Amino acid sequence: MTQPAEWVTGYLGLGSSIGERESHLQSALQRLTSKGVRVVAVSSIYESPHLGLAPGDSERYPPHLNCVVELETTLSPIGLLERVLEIERAGGRERAERWSPRTIDIDILLYGARVESSPRLTLPHPGIAERAFVALPLAELAPDTVLRNGQRLREIVLTDEVQRQAIWRVAGLVLSFGE
Ligand code: ADP
Ligand code: MG
Repeated sequence: MTQPAEWVTGYLGLGSSIGERESHLQSALQRLTSKGVRVVAVSSIYESPHLGLAPGDSERYPPHLNCVVELETTLSPIGLLERVLEIERAGGRERAERWSPRTIDIDILLYGARVESSPRLTLPHPGIAERAFVALPLAELAPDTVLRNGQRLREIVLTDEVQRQAIWRVAGLVLSFGE
């Protein structure tokens, strides 16, 4: 007898900084719902300037829209990574220099309680506590999650590091998912 598939809860960070940013997020969300992945919840959308923006560079580096998606999956961590890389390619992502503007970026923030540091995948994602555009939407969906540094998301969003970053919640912008 085969075992029923085990569904693991995971969180993805989605971001877009080129063109029709909202529709890039929406298309990625639609593509996520496929075999072995079901979307459970989506955070509010946040807008923030490109991290490390030099004065006068705002045309080259437009502001980002970001949100966090909660999902359940039967895929392995690497299987999920391969799926999100495929969705990035389908969304027109081109890999130029690191941290360059992008149509769609999808990072795996958490995969259950899995801790992993391999060349292809680091879990939990190492940037959560430093990036307001990840910590704020993730805290909406998973405030009691404890990161590797021992802190809960609900505490992380109150740290100076997060509080000093320029970021705003985009009221009235809501992504749809499910049937
Ligand atoms: P960034 O998201 O930092 O701007 P990229 O999206 O270009 O950079 O980097 C993607 C690469 O990072 C992937 O090919 C993947 O192998 C690696 N990576 C390591 N950990 C993760 C993670 N938790 N989620 C997504 N990609 C990861
Ligand atoms: Mg990425």
